[in-house]
Amino acid sequence: MDQKTRDDLLRLFQGKLNEAMKFYLETCSRCGVCTKACHVHESMGQVKYIAAYRGEIVRRLYKKYFKAQGKAWSSLGESKELSDIALDELYEAAYSCTGCRRCMVFCPHGIDTQMLMSIAKILLVGANAEPDILTMLADMSIEKGKSMDAFKEGFLEGIRNLEAEVVKKWKSDAGESAIPIDVQDADLLYVALAGAHSIIPAAAVFNAAGENWTLSFFEAVNFGAFVGDPTKTKLILDRIINEAKRLNVKEVCICECGTAFRVMKQMSGNQPFRVTSVTETHARYLREGRIKLDKSKLKGPVTYHDPCQIARNGGVIDDPRYILGHLTDSFLDMTPDPTYNWCCGGGGGLVALGDETLDFRMKSSSVKADQVRQTGATVLATACENCHSQLSDLNRHYELGVDVQFLTSLMADALI
Ligand code: SF4
Ligand code: SF4
Repeated sequence: MDQKTRDDLLRLFQGKLNEAMKFYLETCSRCGVCTKACHVHESMGQVKYIAAYRGEIVRRLYKKYFKAQGKAWSSLGESKELSDIALDELYEAAYSCTGCRRCMVFCPHGIDTQMLMSIAKILLVGANAEPDILTMLADMSIEKGKSMDAFKEGFLEGIRNLEAEVVKKWKSDAGESAIPIDVQDADLLYVALAGAHSIIPAAAVFNAAGENWTLSFFEAVNFGAFVGDPTKTKLILDRIINEAKRLNVKEVCICECGTAFRVMKQMSGNQPFRVTSVTETHARYLREGRIKLDKSKLKGPVTYHDPCQIARNGGVIDDPRYILGHLTDSFLDMTPDPTYNWCCGGGGGLVALGDETLDFRMKSSSVKADQVRQTGATVLATACENCHSQLSDLNRHYELGVDVQFLTSLMADALI
């Protein structure tokens, strides 16, 4: 690595050094409490997958370049030069971490390894050493935001086809506007993922509740966050914020996508609308008596996987259980509980990387497979697309024999 590249990367590193990050970098007491916290280490047993070990890779660079004793630490192996080898180590640490933050709830100092990995990811982006596909997908989202008119017609055509399906299956009174778009002064802007599965069931529930809603032109997923590029994360986020402001909505409701929800909830700043997950919104309809569900539709014992970004990191824990209480009398919660729940193993961009990461995702998530199996459930519900994909892969790989379902789909199918 030449000096100019190193200097550029160190500037990126410097930009991440707020007070919280310095605390995470300077506080690890090497107590070892996090040793058993990470699903990757628990499933694969390799030291390099311990949370503190990952953090140490970033910490040694920090000591070398941002602490006065950097040179002295070098001889003790406590600091390390930023080199091509260091980049390889950063890649291994960052792209084997799903950002689930389970280690953080174990750590007595609350050290956030996911935040430390955000330094690793931004250095990889700066060195053009991140996974190309994630940057490409982020760039496509940004382009779409810039030239909405170019794709608008195709999008509207696709939605008209989906509307017919909503009307046919749920006999919607909403008729032609079963999936409303671009409605000025709507109460709620629903931000979905690309694909019918993310739009149709949610539309059925919104219409049944009599919601004054409108569908966003943009997909919820934020590939900028997966790849750890703050500039791209913000550009992708801003498309939705601007749309919500333009339409003057009161609520931005994020579909079953954990990262999209966390990014919108925690990074959109003070806005004239509130941010909810679709699980929260749909639970509210049930509480307000705006929808009713038929418990006889869902057969067999049901369990629920809490998406890390929605539950542990987003605080949405009671609402999915409230919904499930209206869907079944046979709910079996997982052990450990939602705060300590095992990650599905697909976050942090790993599912988005597809087959390239499949072998690792299966090996690194055997504890998740065991956790599902131990419930004895035959239906496995969740509220995140990433989790759904990963759990479906785990179901096949470990022959769990469960039916993996989105919570919103279960609700739509049980609407009275
Ligand atoms: S955030 Fe999750 S995946 Fe990453 S080190 Fe911590 S426990 Fe492991
Ligand atoms: S639990 Fe926290 S303080 Fe202890 S080794 Fe892990 S990261 Fe360091």
